[in-house]
Amino acid sequence: MTRDSNCTGDKYVRFGSVISTYRCNARCNMCNIWRFPTRAADEVGVEVYQKLPQMRALNLTGGEVFLRSDVDDIVTVLKTKARRIVISSNGWFVDRTLRLFEKHGNSIGIRISIEGLSHANDRIRGMPRGFDNAIRILTALHGMGIKDIGFGLTIQDANAQDVKDLYQLAKMMDVEFATAALHNSFYFHKQDNRIDSSQDAIAALQELAADLLRSRRPKDWFRAYFNYGLINYLQGRERLLPCRMAHDAFFLEPNGDVLPCNGMDEPMPLGNLRVQSWDEIWHSRAAERARQSVRNCGKQCWMMGSVGQEIKKHPVEPLKWIIAHKWPPRKIESPPKENRHPHSLFGVDGLSAKQTMQLIQIRPASLEAKASGAP
Ligand code: SF4
Repeated sequence: MTRDSNCTGDKYVRFGSVISTYRCNARCNMCNIWRFPTRAADEVGVEVYQKLPQMRALNLTGGEVFLRSDVDDIVTVLKTKARRIVISSNGWFVDRTLRLFEKHGNSIGIRISIEGLSHANDRIRGMPRGFDNAIRILTALHGMGIKDIGFGLTIQDANAQDVKDLYQLAKMMDVEFATAALHNSFYFHKQDNRIDSSQDAIAALQELAADLLRSRRPKDWFRAYFNYGLINYLQGRERLLPCRMAHDAFFLEPNGDVLPCNGMDEPMPLGNLRVQSWDEIWHSRAAERARQSVRNCGKQCWMMGSVGQEIKKHPVEPLKWIIAHKWPPRKIESPPKENRHPHSLFGVDGLSAKQTMQLIQIRPASLEAKASGAP
């Protein structure tokens, strides 16, 4: 393997997202992963996870993580790699989840996707009783004294009206509440996700951000900023903070491929951990090409994986926004809408988002300016 002496990757990896499987028992309307399952025999195991570097935080995700029969072994190894491990789950497998937490206790956390109140959740996820199972897991974990637990939703037309109620429910249950917006990418096997009533979604996020700013917990203030970033994204605008995926963060595919992220239209492997060492991959020419793509990426997505660490690294910008909106409390305005949406979430002139993607160059104007060296 040729090493690039001009490697622009950071020495210390801050965040990793391990996609353990593409098998999934849910049938979500915004994600087609379940249509393209991996074969269990093709999914890498703990001997490959042993090769991961040390990092600050790690997300174990899927597909559905609890379809892996060796989830306990996976968690045991990953705990040696990161200071904080959070599992993302669809909340279906009650017994398997509780068994894992009985063993690992507060050394791990979990976020369960709840896509609305029971009717909306079960419809969006295509899982009758999905809401019940998710709540059953959360209440049981809460009763066991597990601290790092919560649920989250991906905001879309079908659940915008439930955001406020779910947030209140999370507060009553004393668990975390996470938000995301629809994205189109290779990972979801989706290019036609779209939001028709973005104003409803934006209004829900504005209300949520305002309430988070009223909290006494500084952590909630930064959550408010994250939600403001989602509003910004839904308006088709550039990210509020830079993206450093592949520089200090990565995704690992079930087949061992190391990727910059899960938000691009095509995967862009840096290398494969089944057959290479971490150092070979991180210092490879393929990794540099991927970093170049990240620096020029026009998707401008706003997902926790690529944003969470950036907020920690650049607290000044979020703090300025917090101060401006908290003391004294100020209405959270929606930024002006871009005409050309880099993520193409809305479609243009009645075309689907997919048709729009084929028609327009997805590079925001200011990125074009940066690329051409304009001030
Ligand atoms: S902005 Fe681009 S590189 Fe960054 S996470 Fe999104 S899709 Fe990936």
